[in-house]
Amino acid sequence: MQVASLRVGVPLSERQFDKELGGYQEVGYRKGKKEFFTCGSCRGELAGADKHGRAKNRNNPLFWGLEVEEKVLCLRCVKKKYEAALTWRKRGYLKDYLKRGYK
Ligand SMILES: [Zn+2]
Repeated sequence: MQVASLRVGVPLSERQFDKELGGYQEVGYRKGKKEFFTCGSCRGELAGADKHGRAKNRNNPLFWGLEVEEKVLCLRCVKKKYEAALTWRKRGYLKDYLKRGYK
């Protein structure tokens, strides 16, 4: 995978392991014309990036430089589970995004 593509949000067709359902599920679902994504850790609902069928970049663990099992992560879970693994720069972005109330 090229570095440029790592920063793009995860597409809806991507699958991740769902502990509750015990299998691989699509990372999100459609409600009418809107797409929503599910945090791979807490199962929180996350709005997608508008019209692209993708999660927001910030909900892509690769955006944070994290190579982890989850394909989609909310910012609270990035902080709770992986804050120590972030570079100081990414930790700064995370702090800023959380302060703005982003998910
Ligand atoms: Zn979460």
